[in-house]
Amino acid sequence: MIAKPIVGILAFQGDFAKHEQAFAKLKCETRLVKSPSQLEACEYLVIPGGESSVIDRFVKSTQLAEPIKRFASNRPVWGTCAGMILLATHVVNDRTISPLSLLDITIERNGYGRQFDSFIDVGQVTFGAKPEPLEMVFIRAPKITNIGAEVVRLGSCRNETVIVRQGNVIATSFHPELTASTRFQQYFLSLKH
Ligand code: GLN
Repeated sequence: MIAKPIVGILAFQGDFAKHEQAFAKLKCETRLVKSPSQLEACEYLVIPGGESSVIDRFVKSTQLAEPIKRFASNRPVWGTCAGMILLATHVVNDRTISPLSLLDITIERNGYGRQFDSFIDVGQVTFGAKPEPLEMVFIRAPKITNIGAEVVRLGSCRNETVIVRQGNVIATSFHPELTASTRFQQYFLSLKH
């Protein structure tokens, strides 16, 4: 029997339970991560959506920043929404957050503004040879305002880049765990080898 991939989900705050459900559909084993030793037992890590300032504080108080950086050097890490903010190199409008600098992007928190605070739309993703449509849920989403040369754009919606990847590290400004499709999660799981 092929071993089930072990997906760790950072579980201090936010919608980590929805991520567990989505990975369960793909027959993955999920583990909630709140400490460096729990992280070490995983093959993948998800940093969920929620409040980036709150998750940032927990990451610091539990001494998880350095272990997450080491993890990302050889295992896939995915940040959604608040998780994307935590993976960035710069956050233009919040000085209290010190992001992990694992993805060379600049982020504006809540960058879609009031009018489009939250919305659902169909965007485009490119995981294979051809672009594909994907339903995307945005909730007070961060906007990417600058993208470094090493970063690949894998998805867009309303003329904005909404999926970026740099090596093992990938981030979405929307919430794949809130829609029925597991297309994004399947792509994330394929980053392993
Ligand atoms: N607005 C939140 C933040 O800035 C992110 C929202 C989300 O993760 N859905 O942290």
